[in-house]
Amino acid sequence: MNNIAVIGAGTMGNGIAHVFATAGYQVNLIDISQEALDKALAVIGKNLDRQIKKEIIAQEEKEAALARISTFTTISEGVKEADLVVEAATENVDLKLDIFRQLDDSTRDDCILATNTSSISITKIASVTNRPDKVIGMHFMNPVPVMKLVEIIRGYSTSDATTETIMTLSKKLDKVPVEVNDYPGFVANRILMPMINEAIYSLYEGVAGVTEIDTVMKLGMAHPMGPLQLADFIGLDVCLSILRVLHDGFGNPKYAPCPLLVNMVEAGHLGVKSGSGFYDWNHGSKDLVVAAGFKK
Ligand code: NAD
Repeated sequence: MNNIAVIGAGTMGNGIAHVFATAGYQVNLIDISQEALDKALAVIGKNLDRQIKKEIIAQEEKEAALARISTFTTISEGVKEADLVVEAATENVDLKLDIFRQLDDSTRDDCILATNTSSISITKIASVTNRPDKVIGMHFMNPVPVMKLVEIIRGYSTSDATTETIMTLSKKLDKVPVEVNDYPGFVANRILMPMINEAIYSLYEGVAGVTEIDTVMKLGMAHPMGPLQLADFIGLDVCLSILRVLHDGFGNPKYAPCPLLVNMVEAGHLGVKSGSGFYDWNHGSKDLVVAAGFKK
C-alpha cells in the first residue's frame, strides 16, 4: 500500500494527510474548495514546524512530507491510483453516500474505502458500493497528528482481510487502532456523548455551575478538561447531532438531548467556533471565562 487519497481537506482531512505523508505514503488530498486545499497545506506546514520544534521530526522530513502531498479538486482525478481512500468530508449522510458511489466507480476494484465519520453507519455507507467487504470506518481523533487512537469500525459486511490491512496500516502510522463493531456512536461517542449530555443536564437542573461541573470531572476523574469545555471544543451542534444519532439508532430515551443543548444550538451558541458556548471564547482560551448566561 503506497498511494492514499484523502477526501476533504478540513480539520480532520489535513491531519490525516499529515500523518500519512510523514509515514512515507504518497497522498492525494482532494477537496471541492481550492481555498480549503491551500489552507490545509499551510496548516500542515505549521504543524510540521511544531513537530520539528518538539524534536519529533527533523527539518528534512518536513520538506519530504510536503513533497509527498498533491492536491486535487475532483475526486475521479485524485483517486485513480489509490490503494486506500480515507473520506473526511463534511458530516452529512447524503453527501457521504454520493461520494462513496463516485469512489466505487472511480477507484480500482481492490482499493479499500475508509470513512472518518463520527456517527454515520458504516454499513449504510458500504451499501451504496459494490464492495461492502472493502468499506471500513477509520475514525481518527482531533488533532490527528497528536492523538494516538484510531477507532477501526467494522461494518456488517467488512471482511477480516480489510480489517487486518487497516489495523496493520494504522500501526505503521504510529497510532493505536482499536477494533469495534458498527452500532450507533461506535464506542468513543457512545460513551462520551451521554457523559457530555449528563453534564449539561446537571447544569440545566441547577445541580452545579459550569466551573463546578468541569472541576469535578477534571480533578475527580483526572480528565484533561471538563465535559462542558470539551463540548465547546467539539461544537455543540456536532454534540447534538451525534446524540440524535444515538437516540434514533437505539430508540432509548436515555440518549434524549438535554433541552438546554437544543436551545443553545438554536441560538447559535456553538462553542469555540461561534465564540460562545458554556464559556466565552472571544478573548482566547488562556483564562476560561464562563459565558454570560451561566453566571450565578
Ligand atoms: P470540516 O468542515 O473541517 O471539513 C470538511 C471538508 O470537506 C471541507 O473542507 C469541505 O470543503 C470538504 N468537502 C465537502 N464536500 C466535499 C466533496 N463532495 N468532496 C470533497 N470535499 C468535500 O470537517 P471535519 O471536522 O474535518 O470533519 C470531517 C469528517 O471527520 C466528518 O465526517 C466528521 O464527523 C469527522 N470527524 C471530525 C472530528 C472533529 O473533531 N472535527 C473528529 C473525528 C471525526
